Amino acid sequence: MTNQCDTPEVPLLPYDEALVALTSRVTTLVGTTQKPLMQALGEILAETQQAGINVPPADNSAMDGYAFNTDAINDNGDTVLPVSQRIAAGETGANLTTGTAARIFTGAPIPPGANAVIMQEQVALEDGHIHFQRDLQPGNNIRPKGNDIQSGDTILQKGCRLRAQDIGLAASVGLQNLPVYEKLRVGMFFTGDELVEPGQPLAAGKIYDSNRYTLYGLLKSLGCEIVDLGLVGDTLEATKAAMLEASTKADLVVTCGGVSVGEEDHVRIAIETLGDLFLWRLRIKPGKPLAFGQINNTSFIGLPGNPVSVFATFCLFVSPLIKTLQGRQWQKPQGVAVKAAFDWPKPDSRREFLRARLETDDHGEPAVSIYDNQDSGVLTSTVWGQGFVEIAEGQTVRAGELVNYLSYSQFLE
Ligand code: AMP
Ligand code: MG
Repeated sequence: MTNQCDTPEVPLLPYDEALVALTSRVTTLVGTTQKPLMQALGEILAETQQAGINVPPADNSAMDGYAFNTDAINDNGDTVLPVSQRIAAGETGANLTTGTAARIFTGAPIPPGANAVIMQEQVALEDGHIHFQRDLQPGNNIRPKGNDIQSGDTILQKGCRLRAQDIGLAASVGLQNLPVYEKLRVGMFFTGDELVEPGQPLAAGKIYDSNRYTLYGLLKSLGCEIVDLGLVGDTLEATKAAMLEASTKADLVVTCGGVSVGEEDHVRIAIETLGDLFLWRLRIKPGKPLAFGQINNTSFIGLPGNPVSVFATFCLFVSPLIKTLQGRQWQKPQGVAVKAAFDWPKPDSRREFLRARLETDDHGEPAVSIYDNQDSGVLTSTVWGQGFVEIAEGQTVRAGELVNYLSYSQFLE
């Protein structure tokens, strides 16, 4: 039987068009909730945050030392100042008596009347007086009020995924809770009569199911809640039943396998029967038979079964789809131009995403290498790799030329 989709009349959809087609069909799906900062870590911020205070709230000392006024500096030599008070972090000092210095510690507020701090290592202390020869300027060793954040400043943008430093910044302005989007529920199942779970004996003709674990990890890395429906046999009935169940339990359904054109591939037909298929088959390698559609109001994305295709198409398509549904701000990763440490002499009509690693060449310059075996069944390539080299349709590469390198982390953080 000839495959209609390989004929020129039914062109495969190019990467950029597929990405737009996919992400423009969906919007933020999840509601919002308030979470304490620590629980908000890794979640998506639902409202832009402004600071209600200055950070630091007052001028304070950047050093352990002595606060004084630069008017008291003796231009002709030694400056000698009696120490009139002591201010530790957490205390407030009194007005500085003219012609004196205040013992002060890092983070303690500068007393009114002082305008500089000299480091303790730069003075000699004798009989309750400090002696020094240096010339200091107003503001030296003082962290001014609002140096980090001024009241009213925007500190965090809606749609960001909250990282350690983000919740730290929120805490620094006194926020206890943050409004975040609720977790996206992603249903997943895996088709293939050949699949066996790890821990079971491997009968002849069977292979261990790896996609379930890869996909679990990928979904977790994007902060999703997972509805795992496990393995599904290669029949249309079983596939339809799993699809329906997943669509009622999740905001998005992701499957692996059974999207190709073989007699044992039922996922695409199940979607067409139960809902709508929006796109199928892309001009990319690996991952050509990817399918995208909808059942009831649940988005569905069917990934090919080959383990490398799962990893690559998740990065390229599922990640942006999930980010859009999660209310996250995202941009298509652009990659960086790096010298190729390999030849790629055979052009392909599909855009290729080779598993690759950043290394250095003989001159210590950055160069990108690719895994020897780029077969879509060789999962080792994804473990060896740290990113993809993107090879455009019809492109060939000679060692030393620049290629586009996209690190995995851009897709998965
Ligand atoms: P399919 O897309 O169903 O034709 O599967 C393509 C290839 O991927 C076949 O060699 C399958 O055996 C393999 N495959 C499918 N699902 C999995 C899985 N969950 N784990 C490992 N390999 C799989
Ligand atoms: Mg299959």
